[in-house]
Amino acid sequence: MCEILVDLLDVNIKGVEGAHRQPVTVHFECRRVDVGCPECGVLARVKDRNRVSLVDLPMNGRPTRVVWHKRRFFCPDADCPKNSWSEVDTRIAFPRHLVTDRAGRWLTAQIGKYGRSVAEVAEELGCDWHTINDALLRYGEALVDDDEHRFGLVEALGLDETLFVREGPYRRQHFSTQIVDVGSGQLLDVVPGRDSHAPTSWLMKRTCDWRFHVSYATLDLSGPYRKVFTEALPWAIQIADPFHVVKLANQKLDECRRRVQQELFGHRGHKLDPLYRARRLLTMAAERLNEKSHEKVMGLLRAGDPRGAVTACYNAKEAVRELYTVPDYELAGVFIDELIRDMNDPSWPVEVRSLGRTLKRWRDQIIAWHQAHFSNGPTEAVNGLVKRVKRVAFGFRRFRNYRVRALLYAGKPNWDLLATIAPR
Ligand SMILES: [Zn+2]
Repeated sequence: MCEILVDLLDVNIKGVEGAHRQPVTVHFECRRVDVGCPECGVLARVKDRNRVSLVDLPMNGRPTRVVWHKRRFFCPDADCPKNSWSEVDTRIAFPRHLVTDRAGRWLTAQIGKYGRSVAEVAEELGCDWHTINDALLRYGEALVDDDEHRFGLVEALGLDETLFVREGPYRRQHFSTQIVDVGSGQLLDVVPGRDSHAPTSWLMKRTCDWRFHVSYATLDLSGPYRKVFTEALPWAIQIADPFHVVKLANQKLDECRRRVQQELFGHRGHKLDPLYRARRLLTMAAERLNEKSHEKVMGLLRAGDPRGAVTACYNAKEAVRELYTVPDYELAGVFIDELIRDMNDPSWPVEVRSLGRTLKRWRDQIIAWHQAHFSNGPTEAVNGLVKRVKRVAFGFRRFRNYRVRALLYAGKPNWDLLATIAPR
């Protein structure tokens, strides 16, 4: 009856402690007596016993500890080289773990799959944060790293930088790079830093077959990621993410607006200044403005931009956006070359010329979008999931914790394997 209640196999229950509605402690020992020496097979003798306390799943809603009266064995054969060893039963718990096996698997699903916080689960099981986090790493890393089928071949790969923590008195930012299958929106891995080093070595660890299968590589307009793809996947067509291209054009427009504001009025924009009032409407897509808003923008520009610099930037931004309405690859090439030539004209404001230079530098990557419409869109969706993980955890200090939580939540691990994986 006791065995049924505690649901552990082949054990003798030695005793149970715990007052009404207080935490419970169950003492047990393994029933098996005929343990052989792993070296020579001679029937082992018990040397001593020690008690190992393990965090278990709550019993009847009460936090539960099971205390395993573990035997230490020795081999009676004097010639046997085997030293003493401790009893092992991985159906109960793995060696050196602080939680029972069933609790370890349960908490991995609670935190990794359902996105609960470590602190919350620790409270439910009545133990400290580190015990739970340690178990999560052991089971979680096994689930995401030991399953070679977690992700298959990838046609389009995306890199994206994410902030994972602000740390220290100066809130120093630590970045990481997400490696995403942009076709399926699966987070493949997270590596530290936003330089080319870690993503390159990650890619180099894949098989040749896997790397050859990557035909497209999406990136924001960042030099390091370009270097990653050029070195590790030279055959993949690089695609600059349209969102980032348009974002850059909007940034240039903003810069120009602030510069003209300063030059004209000698102070930063405030709510009565025409350029400041136009700031939101300017960065909106022109076709989303109704007639009234359009009139308003033009009026504000006439009032705040007598030399037409902001207007030029506005038109440049709209021209960049128009690039994405061009129907095919060849036309896009013609369009962007003309745009680059035009923006190079010395009569334009510095911001337009700077935008033109960036377009020139990234010309091939920008129009490559017209060959295959891959974008970092799915990467942003993954970002949303990872942000949720970060919020639940109130940020991460250790990269390893961040990585496993992000991969469990956004990396689509095969949760059917949770019941059978061997933890680390
Ligand atoms: Zn032996």
